[in-house]
Amino acid sequence: MKLVIRSGVLDGILQAAARHYPREFFCLLGGSLEGDSIRVDEIVYIPFQNSEHSVVFDPYSIPVNGRVVGSAHSHPFPSPPSLPDVAAFPRTGWGHLIVFPPFDRCSARAYDSSGREIPLVIID
Ligand SMILES: [Zn+2]
Repeated sequence: MKLVIRSGVLDGILQAAARHYPREFFCLLGGSLEGDSIRVDEIVYIPFQNSEHSVVFDPYSIPVNGRVVGSAHSHPFPSPPSLPDVAAFPRTGWGHLIVFPPFDRCSARAYDSSGREIPLVIID
């Protein structure tokens, strides 16, 4: 499995996360599954509440939209998914991004829904 994301979409996530910092940013990712690639081509914003450091949101608020393939959220520093993250991942698709300061293109890691790191491929 690998997560393939358009550079403009990644930049949008990084910019939004930087604006929210030090609050946690969260969004869903829209795209498609192609073979072993999770292709992300849009950001899907949903209403959510954040708490300390966990992804807390109402799964029933997620748009019923077959294009949701994963999620993205921010951490205050580079760190792997937390236990609440790993618990939430399977509810929101197959590929999950965690971004962190300084929010440049090297400030993102991709994980599968079990929390294992997967390659992140940035395309134009
Ligand atoms: Zn997290």
